[in-house]
Amino acid sequence: MAGRSILYLGGSKFAAEFCDKLKGLDLCEQFTGSPSLEFPEKTPEKIDLVMFEAGPLITRSGQTLQSLIQRLSDWPLVAVTSRDQEHRGIAAVRAGAQGFVCADDVGETQLEAVIEHAIQRHRLLVRLSERDNTVLSILQSINDGVIVVDRHGNVLDINPAARSILGLAPRQQTTTQWNKAFCNFAADGKTQIDHEELPLVKACRGHKFSNQAVAYQVPNQADTILSINGQGLYDSSNTLIGGVITFRDITDIMRKTIELEKRAQYDDLTLLPNRRLFTQQLEKAIGRSQRKNRPLAVLFIDLDRFKSVNDTLGHDIGDELLRQVADRLNKNLRIGDFSGRWGGDEFIVCLEDFGEQRNAAAAAQKLVLVLSEKYDVSGSEVYTTPSIGIAIYPDSGEQADRLIKAADLAMYQAKKRGGGRFQYYSSSLNTRLAQREELELGLRHALVRDEFVLHYQPRIDVSSGRLIGLEALLRWRHPRFGLLPPARFLPILESSGLIHSAGEWVINTACRQLAAWQHQFELPDLSIAINLSQQQLKHGRLIETVEKTLVDTALDPGCIEFEIGDGEIVRQRSAELDTLYGLRAFGVRLSLDHFGTRDVSFSSLDTGVIDSFVLDQSLIQDVEINGSHQRIVRAAIAMARGLDIEVAAEGVETITQLEFLRSCKCDLAQGFLISRPVQADKVSSILRSEIAGTRLLSRGMP
Ligand code: C2E
Ligand code: MG
Repeated sequence: MAGRSILYLGGSKFAAEFCDKLKGLDLCEQFTGSPSLEFPEKTPEKIDLVMFEAGPLITRSGQTLQSLIQRLSDWPLVAVTSRDQEHRGIAAVRAGAQGFVCADDVGETQLEAVIEHAIQRHRLLVRLSERDNTVLSILQSINDGVIVVDRHGNVLDINPAARSILGLAPRQQTTTQWNKAFCNFAADGKTQIDHEELPLVKACRGHKFSNQAVAYQVPNQADTILSINGQGLYDSSNTLIGGVITFRDITDIMRKTIELEKRAQYDDLTLLPNRRLFTQQLEKAIGRSQRKNRPLAVLFIDLDRFKSVNDTLGHDIGDELLRQVADRLNKNLRIGDFSGRWGGDEFIVCLEDFGEQRNAAAAAQKLVLVLSEKYDVSGSEVYTTPSIGIAIYPDSGEQADRLIKAADLAMYQAKKRGGGRFQYYSSSLNTRLAQREELELGLRHALVRDEFVLHYQPRIDVSSGRLIGLEALLRWRHPRFGLLPPARFLPILESSGLIHSAGEWVINTACRQLAAWQHQFELPDLSIAINLSQQQLKHGRLIETVEKTLVDTALDPGCIEFEIGDGEIVRQRSAELDTLYGLRAFGVRLSLDHFGTRDVSFSSLDTGVIDSFVLDQSLIQDVEINGSHQRIVRAAIAMARGLDIEVAAEGVETITQLEFLRSCKCDLAQGFLISRPVQADKVSSILRSEIAGTRLLSRGMP
């Protein structure tokens, strides 16, 4: 810095002492100007910087500070004042000076820095064209923070918005090293940013970047998160002269985003990690187990008879029960173990570092006991028990999804054995898991490979024995396992989302077939019952499919009956119920399947949504000997009469059962006694005989 020529204008009490300080810096050929702030008569040839005393804001010759500064604007200007008159220095900077010093309170290093800063800043301003100056003045007034640095990264300008965002006092100066300390942490506030990636360093090197999220840290204060754009600053000859960054405070947006992300990872009801987060945590835990060479256990927990709690006590109680279950889970896990909600009434737990395998069983048994204890839900005593499946890493699987599937399968085993117990995943289950995976894979291609087929089961009018319609039942002609019933693949279709395309195929095929039969055998009233899964009702595609099919086949909508299996749907306002209303608007009929099971009960009937229901085969199977079933069937039919609802009975296997149904005035019957589900061509021959006057029953079909 040696060799700077400084013109000092002023003559106050501290002038002499201060000028000595300047001399001491060995940086100048120093000229002392007039105390009245007038230029010396003989202007020195070379002036690098003018320092003037910002004593009185109006000079003795009547000049305002502003006009004085304007007159001197060819040079870098630094105002000199005293600590107790600091406001004058600030006023000078506001009026256009590049800096100010308090003569009675400035060290040599600081003085040197202020002088150098002023020279650089002035040089930059001069180099910028008038247009750029306009841009700079705009930057002064915009809401985004702007910081201009020279080629060495020294801060030349900070606009008011930047000061406000960064919480810098109007006069607060930055140090020469500020570019390296400014925002050196990423938005998480923890990850240190490499030197080369620091925003101000990048900008002064001419790198252009946008939306760099960083943390601005001030001791004892919460981090401010900034989104920074930056680029180099060039003069008219395209030489890099510095850099500029613009930024805005995104702390609130960031906080909200984090909140949303968090929400996306946690279950709203129980606040436990959801599937996605649990799976991620499990993957990490597996990594740890692998490194430590220690086993890990996954416990899949399903509550027994939860649905009936929901159905009988209502959803609010059901929800509260789930919350309490989550709470008990949390309280009964050891530190390091973690849990999640898999969905519905399913929970999942990971046990790490549990030592011997039997300790996992002990933990599961403890959970069985704890979760089976009485729940006090809004003053009601509620009981449930868990079925728990255990899968151990690495024996039952090495990947997270594999382990979860294995635990799920074991849970089903536990449930099958009566629930309220735990079950280890075993190698025989492994074969089933492998099979399930094979089925899942195969199902993805089943439609295009034309492997689905519909069988049709005749339904007769109980009083006349006349065949009035058919139920379409889906089958899968599996290339390896042969003809598979829905029980083997429907759950996979539903859980994989493939049910939508498969369901569309069923509706299409069944309706076309019905139209063909109606036409061929001149049976315009022949009807078809088509089963729907609940998932289909959640999807707008169903309405479109039905509408298109009705148009394509020109069928009378009254000949089509859709069977739904979950009676809850018609009792609660839901998207599914909206779909049902949409279907009804076409004129098709709606039926409740499996009446008499826990899914469909009396309360589902009186809703005005359904036209008929199907008595479940579990009621019919032993109706000859089971007095309770007899009473339920009689009551259901009597109630249906009153509500003008049609009743069908399925699973009719014996004449006695049919006779009983006839005595109760049940409308329709279906079952092996009348006919098993058969292929379409077999139906054609049945219809032919029917027209010829030979009834199915009288032909004594099996
Ligand atoms: P569902 O609607 O209750 O169908 C009647 C089931 O009972 C059929 O089983 C049928 O073969 C069986 N069945 C009929 N009569 C008798 C009998 O006398 N005795 C006995 N033991 N069983 C009889 P399947 O075909 O295995 O279908 C099972 C379930 O799969 C159906 O129950 C229905 O809920 C579902 N399903 C079938 N096809 C479809 C479909 O295309 N879509 C959907 N979403 N579900 C379907
Ligand atoms: Mg059905």
